[in-house]
Amino acid sequence: MAEQQTGDGEPLDRRLADAIERLGHGLRSLAQRTAREHGLTPLQQQAVLALSRHPSVRREVSALAAEFDVTTPTMSDAISALERKDLITRSPGPDGRRRLLTLTPTGADIARQLQPWDGPLLAALDATPKPDQATTLHTLLNAIAVLQRQNVVRLMRTCTSCRFFARDTYEDPAAPHHCNLLRLPLPLADLRTDCPEHEPA
Ligand code: SF4
Repeated sequence: MAEQQTGDGEPLDRRLADAIERLGHGLRSLAQRTAREHGLTPLQQQAVLALSRHPSVRREVSALAAEFDVTTPTMSDAISALERKDLITRSPGPDGRRRLLTLTPTGADIARQLQPWDGPLLAALDATPKPDQATTLHTLLNAIAVLQRQNVVRLMRTCTSCRFFARDTYEDPAAPHHCNLLRLPLPLADLRTDCPEHEPA
């Protein structure tokens, strides 16, 4: 009997890339929908959410532009629009020159309302067993690290792109890596995507 073929004949990496691309489309349309509901553009929404959780050193136009992979003038336009909507204020930073961005009370309230913008994705992932989530996180962070080295993806503060990351130090498949800064094993489930101690490799 002929062997039945599954996977529609496409290689596994091709299908995985297709699935990630589809996910990206879905998230973009979800972001557009929630942003529109609050009278924002998706970039303005990202800025409001980032300002609600970032420490002061990252609350500047240039830092936000780098984080969201847009030019500084583009991010500056988005920030000016948020100022006109009374959602953020600019004030001198600790050095007196740099402009620190801060959410107004109205902006903080909008950020709280926006927090669950990707709730459908989180709910879908929550239905996936934790070991599978950890393996998927590991796979995606490895791919992101490769793409960062090729300048396809902007730098993220991930373990896999950090100079303190020691790969494959242990035999435990659930915790193979090590952090030389924290001096601790790094279980796959604990790999960080936005580590404050991150330093580029
Ligand atoms: S310093 Fe942070 S990002 Fe770097 S390896 Fe350790 S936990 Fe990961």
